[in-house]
Amino acid sequence: MEDCACGSTRKEVSGAGGEGFEKVGPDGTPTGEPSRADEKGLVARCDAPPSGASWPRFVLTAVLALLRALLSALLHAARANPRPLLAAPPSPTPPPPSAACDGVEDDPAIAPEDGLPPEHLLEHTADSLAARVSARLGRGGSLARAVYREYCGGGGACGWAEEVRRAARPLAARVRGLCDTTPPLALEAGAAPPAAGETEKYVLRAADGAEVEMVAMPAPGVEAGWSLCVSTQVGCRMGCTFCETGRMGLLRNLTVAEVVAQLAVARFALRLRVANVVFMGMGEPLDNVDVLIRSIRVMIDPLGFCLPLKNITVSTSGEAKNVYTLVDALPSVRMAFSIHSGDEAMRSRLMPINRRVPLAEFAEAMRYYLRKTKRRITIQYVLLAGENDSASEAATLAAFLRTVGPAARFHVNLIPYNEQSKPRYRTPSHQACVAFKVALMQEGYFAKIRETRGDAKMAACGQVLPARLEFKSSCTHVPAVIIS
Ligand code: SF4
Repeated sequence: MEDCACGSTRKEVSGAGGEGFEKVGPDGTPTGEPSRADEKGLVARCDAPPSGASWPRFVLTAVLALLRALLSALLHAARANPRPLLAAPPSPTPPPPSAACDGVEDDPAIAPEDGLPPEHLLEHTADSLAARVSARLGRGGSLARAVYREYCGGGGACGWAEEVRRAARPLAARVRGLCDTTPPLALEAGAAPPAAGETEKYVLRAADGAEVEMVAMPAPGVEAGWSLCVSTQVGCRMGCTFCETGRMGLLRNLTVAEVVAQLAVARFALRLRVANVVFMGMGEPLDNVDVLIRSIRVMIDPLGFCLPLKNITVSTSGEAKNVYTLVDALPSVRMAFSIHSGDEAMRSRLMPINRRVPLAEFAEAMRYYLRKTKRRITIQYVLLAGENDSASEAATLAAFLRTVGPAARFHVNLIPYNEQSKPRYRTPSHQACVAFKVALMQEGYFAKIRETRGDAKMAACGQVLPARLEFKSSCTHVPAVIIS
């Protein structure tokens, strides 16, 4: 018998239902009401807590019940929401936008990337410029494209367009700070566009004083359009014996900006409608193949100069391994192959490169070009009086071309030699040129004799040479462009 916390008295009982307590009256008679304080936890029979010595047990039971309820609530919450109960560490607070973006005066030090001088804008396509600006500034890609379009597509190559400066001056200034925009090549003072139908040679001067020649010719079949013959090197190391540039040796390669600048000068300074670009100026284009490929990509960028790739022709004297590189990079590029003789010994004498890259190796590269591009091949053949202009030489050329592909895939340009300041060869007579052409056509090949344009100004094929050299002349890689 013991006192219950509810003020009643209770006694311990046991039976079939188990052991427990029941309330009893003052006389010890059971009242019939259950007692809640079941020490063994079998049945809850009393709402009031126990008193006296039972308090510790009651508190313990209550604490355990509380913990059970808490645990149950947590499990329920975890099932309802699978997020980790422990909060992730807070991400670092993003830095506040630089005040420099709001005013160029606040950021005077726009340091060149990696300590290197800034790249020239003409080295870039719109995409590569946007990527460079975004990587550097964290934003500005769209503006970079707008700036690029203005600079390369709208005549801004000679300076920054005022509206771009006004529209987004601070960021545009930062974009500008990441790129060099000074003209890479300077046009001669007083240079003027060629007269209609005339060919003109221009000497452009680089920052280091190197002279680069560029020739503008009327574009065949394009009303008021021009073909631009551009250079890829200052001088050339191929040493073709009929070429003025070859006599210089190689002074240096041009950069992408310097190659593209020739197109910019023709378009924006001379105001020429350039329909075609031919890589037949100073140098062997495939001897500077990386720059060549990047330059073409800039020239065909729709946001920039937007020249169709089919309107660009690359000529080579025989750098066979780089034919694969070029064709793989730009599968629809047009190429012209300078052969000048189908005979191994004769070609080695005319073109020293043939000793390093013989005709068979060159033919393999030409076959690759045919397979990849599905285009016709243009063959360049300079006619040298008494050297390679006989009917038997025509048959030898035809025999070589047959090893490359069917006759229908060839277009042969015959270019009478342009006598130069110190001529090593003689110009063949018109009759000799016609006889060679007829002999070639009898072999099944389509051939045309190209009218040599620009020879009076030493701007014709094989005559591109800076005026400062002793044997004053101008020059162009191989006479291909002098097309009538
Ligand atoms: S013809 Fe072309 S490859 Fe040959 S020396 Fe002249 S520029 Fe160089």
